[in-house]
Amino acid sequence: MRDGTLEIVQIRAGEMANFSYLIYCPLTLRGLGVDPSFAPDALLDAAGERGVAIEVLVNTHGHPDHIAGNGAVLAATGARLAAHPLDVPGAEIPLGDGSVLAVGKGSLQVLHTPGHTPGSLVLHPPGALITGDTLFVTFVGRADLKGSDPAALFASLRRLAALPPETLVYPGHDYGPQPVSTIGYERAHNPFLQCGDLESFLRLRMG
Ligand SMILES: [Zn+2]
Repeated sequence: MRDGTLEIVQIRAGEMANFSYLIYCPLTLRGLGVDPSFAPDALLDAAGERGVAIEVLVNTHGHPDHIAGNGAVLAATGARLAAHPLDVPGAEIPLGDGSVLAVGKGSLQVLHTPGHTPGSLVLHPPGALITGDTLFVTFVGRADLKGSDPAALFASLRRLAALPPETLVYPGHDYGPQPVSTIGYERAHNPFLQCGDLESFLRLRMG
């Protein structure tokens, strides 16, 4: 039996409105954790309640509010850490654009989406995006931090906006009117995705 369907569990993690994620194959109960943030126990509990073994832990980028719980999750599960080397140099599995991660009988693709940080990643399981701090519901990531590149962020967002409108958007923080949206919703309601050129994006994002 082959079925690539993956379950996605959104987990509230910490006081900065972070979201962690558990992505798993319901047939094999093999799973992947994303950004444990300041609440690694919440991710571990979500896996434990479902009987899922976390085999890989992915960081969407290297900011402390996303990677803080890495050590606790790795120690508890024996998972391997996967991330872009520009953001997390020591990761056991270096990821880049086009990388594919197997999750049980399914898999997800990795998009390199620089801008918020040089090594920002978006995870693309079938029909969904785990967008880290690149795209939020009706908002986008900061581009004024050390290592940020606003022009690169604009290009990364254009790439995401070109995906099918029904694609689900699971952001790295709960900053919008709802915790999950779609690319179609973002095209309609996210002012940063409605900027037609880099100049208008820079005016809106950088003030
Ligand atoms: Zn960040």
